[in-house]
Amino acid sequence: MSDEQELGITESKEHSPGEWYAEVVRKAGLADYAPMGGFIITRPRGYALWETIRDHLDGWFKETGVDNAYFPLFVPESYLEREKDIVEGFDPEVAWVTKGGHDELEERLAVRPTSESIIAPFMARWTRSHRDLPLRLNQWCSVVRWEATETKPFFRTKEFLWQEGHTAHETEDEAWDETMLRLDQYERLFEEELAVPIMRGRKPPHDKFPGADMTTTVEALMPDGKSVQSATSHYLGQSFAEAFDITFLDANEEENVAHTTSWGLSWRALGALIMTHSDDQGLVLPPTVAPTQVAIVPIWQENTKDEVLQYAAGIAAELEDAGVGVTLDDRDERNPGFKFNEHELNGVPVRFEIGPDEVEDGRVTVVHRPDGETVEEERAGIVGAVSDHFDEVYDKLYAAAEENLEQNVREAHSPEDILGTIGRYGGYVKTPWCGDEACETAIKEEIAAEIVMVPLDRDEEPAGDECGVCGDDAEETAYFAKSY
Ligand SMILES: [Zn+2]
Repeated sequence: MSDEQELGITESKEHSPGEWYAEVVRKAGLADYAPMGGFIITRPRGYALWETIRDHLDGWFKETGVDNAYFPLFVPESYLEREKDIVEGFDPEVAWVTKGGHDELEERLAVRPTSESIIAPFMARWTRSHRDLPLRLNQWCSVVRWEATETKPFFRTKEFLWQEGHTAHETEDEAWDETMLRLDQYERLFEEELAVPIMRGRKPPHDKFPGADMTTTVEALMPDGKSVQSATSHYLGQSFAEAFDITFLDANEEENVAHTTSWGLSWRALGALIMTHSDDQGLVLPPTVAPTQVAIVPIWQENTKDEVLQYAAGIAAELEDAGVGVTLDDRDERNPGFKFNEHELNGVPVRFEIGPDEVEDGRVTVVHRPDGETVEEERAGIVGAVSDHFDEVYDKLYAAAEENLEQNVREAHSPEDILGTIGRYGGYVKTPWCGDEACETAIKEEIAAEIVMVPLDRDEEPAGDECGVCGDDAEETAYFAKSY
C-alpha cells in the first residue's frame, strides 16, 4: 500500500456517515479505541482541540464569577442516595467500586456519573449567610456512565471529558439568570468559535435532568440529519438545596433555602465540530480552533531550493511572531502532492504554496480548506491578509452548516406526516404537542426519533391547536429528531 492510499479517507460522508466519521477520527490522529469496550484514547491532536474548547469556556466562566475546584472521582453510596431523582436517573449506568486492594469496602463507592451528590454537601458547608452567595464552582474532569451502546469517539463512550458547573443563589431569579448565562456562553462557543449554528430550547419535562426544575439545551443538527445535544444548563430549583441543606441566613437573620443550578459541556462538542465540517478528504476545522492554522508547502527544484526555503522561512517567522499557528513543511522525503493531502486530512484550514514564481513576484499562493479556493496575495501584507482568509474560511464553514439547519426544520401535523418526514429527510420536525410523554413514545416505537427540545419560552404559542400525534389540545411545540 502506498502512503497516498493509506492517508486517504475511503468511506463516504454521504453514504456511510458512521464509518466515515470513525475513519476521519482515526486517520486524522484524533483518537484510538481502548482495549476495554466503550473507552477511547484521546491522542495529542484530539486533545489539543479539547484544550482549545476548554480554554475558551474557562476564560468566559472566570470572567463571570466562576472558580475552578476539584472533587473526588468517587461518591459514597449514601451520598448518592440523598437526592432520590439522581439515584433513579443514573442507577442503571453507575460503575461501582466494592474492593480496595483485597478488602471489601464497608460502603460501595460510585464512580461519579455527575458530581452534584459530592459537591452539594460542601456547598452547604461553605454557605452560612447571604454574604457567601452566589457560590459558583466548576470542575474539569471525566465522568463514567456505563451505557451498553456502540462506541462512537466523542459521542458515545463510557468515560468522557466534560466540565460541570454548580452554583447556589439567594433567589430564584438569580439562579434562573445564571442558568441562561451559561446557556449563552455555550451558544457563543458553538456560534463564534466552532462555526456550528445551534438551536436553543429546553428538554420536555419527562427528559429533564433528574431532579431539575428545568433543563435548557443547545442542539446542533449534523449533516446526516441527526441532532446532537451539545450542552445543557439546568435550573435545579430548591430540591438539591433541600436534600443537601444548602441554606443561608438572609439580611434579617432568617434561614432560607438556596436556589441552585448546574451546567455542563462534554467532548461531544468536539464530535459535533468534527462531524459538521469534515469531508471525504478528512478533517475540516475552522481557523478559530485549528492548532495549525497555516501549512506552508515550499515547491522547489534542486537549483531553486535555497531561495524558496529562505523566502518561505521568512514568511513562517513573520506569521509566528503575529501569533499564527504555522508549520513550514520543508520535509525532503515528501513531494508537495503528498503534503497537500496530509494537511487536508489533518484539517489545516489554510495552505500557502510557495515556488520560484512566488519568490520572483513577491507573492504567496493561498489555498482554502475545504473548497480549494486559490488566491494570490502580496508577500508584503501577508499577516493582515491571512487574518482575512481565516475569516473567509470561517464564514464558509458557518454558512454551509447554517444552510443545512435552515433547510431541515419542517412542520408536520399527523403521526403519518411526522414519521414520513423524519424517515425521508431527517432533521427537525416541529409539531404541536399536548405535553404527554405517551405521544413521544408512540413516535419512538415506530422510528428512532424523540422530542429533542421544546421552545425556551413557555408562553410561545404552539405551532397549531391540536397535538400532531393524539389530536388533543396542544400546549406547546415539540421538535422531533433522531439524535446522537
Ligand atoms: Zn398528544
